[in-house]
Amino acid sequence: AKSLGGGRHHLYTQQLNGDLFKRWTMEHALRKAFEQNELMLFYQPQVSAENGSIVGVEALLRWRTGSGQPVNPAEFIPLAEETGLIVPIGEWVLRTACRQAQLWRKSGWLDVEMAVNVSPKQLEQDDFVERVQAILAETAMQPHLLMLEITESAAISETGDAASKLAELKALGIRLAMDDFGTGYSSLGHLRTFGVDTLKIAQSFIRDVAANNSLASIVRAIAAMASSLGLTIVAEGVEEESEYVFLRSIGCDRIQGYYFYKPMPKQDMEQLLMESAS
Ligand code: C2E
Ligand code: CA
Ligand code: CA
Repeated sequence: AKSLGGGRHHLYTQQLNGDLFKRWTMEHALRKAFEQNELMLFYQPQVSAENGSIVGVEALLRWRTGSGQPVNPAEFIPLAEETGLIVPIGEWVLRTACRQAQLWRKSGWLDVEMAVNVSPKQLEQDDFVERVQAILAETAMQPHLLMLEITESAAISETGDAASKLAELKALGIRLAMDDFGTGYSSLGHLRTFGVDTLKIAQSFIRDVAANNSLASIVRAIAAMASSLGLTIVAEGVEEESEYVFLRSIGCDRIQGYYFYKPMPKQDMEQLLMESAS
């Protein structure tokens, strides 16, 4: 609350539980930030495990307060989920990412996928598919270059008939990725049912994989099964060369992580694109 609250809230601070107060202040500030266009996207490249070339980017939401202070996504995104703010924000993310992808495409960067995170709350909307379709039309985004990243809990949720919506999205030509695979409850069998074509191995599995034998066998088994199902495998959170070498050796198709690139603002992404084109 330090950076977000003002002195006028002082009295309430003493009455409300500190956490509750912080949440309330942050929710208020986030709502305002969204209305005042203070949210932005960073982009993190995904590279081919084979040759390190950029094959896609993931759009990641960022928030800087008026004073320029970045707010940790691990704090404000869960809050946006709980309050439902993630629904309008997520729609803005999708529109902005598609628009950006089209601009990059026009400047000659062809065939690079744009991956966008979709909250379970968005998927629960009755008209989610129509909304996505409208954004595709509005931005002239090519569906096959759009990758929607969903979580296991969203996909297997009974609310809102997620499975049939995923099938409709697939029918539009959009690609689907299962984010953070391994941390939830879904199985590889589920992935087939949902029409998921890409599996992102959870960062928690990648961490220490080179040093931990049992973890390494789990990841190896996941990769083997996924590739036998014809799924594209992305490893995220790759920070060390040893992790990269291991992941490449077990058949991971793509790597996303600090070892190659950190998430960056669009200007830096453009710089990178120019350099890799020349
Ligand atoms: P995620 O979808 O699993 O995104 C990957 C996260 O891992 C990002 O964190 C990214 O910055 C971080 N990361 C990438 N490479 C490395 C690495 O090598 N090491 C480490 N330690 N971290 C790495 P970020 O941007 O803080 O986002 C956190 C989470 O917030 C995301 O996890 C996603 O669940 C959520 N999120 C971000 N943007 C959006 C959005 O637009 N909509 C929704 N619904 N959720 C979002
Ligand atoms: Ca993601
Ligand atoms: Ca992830």
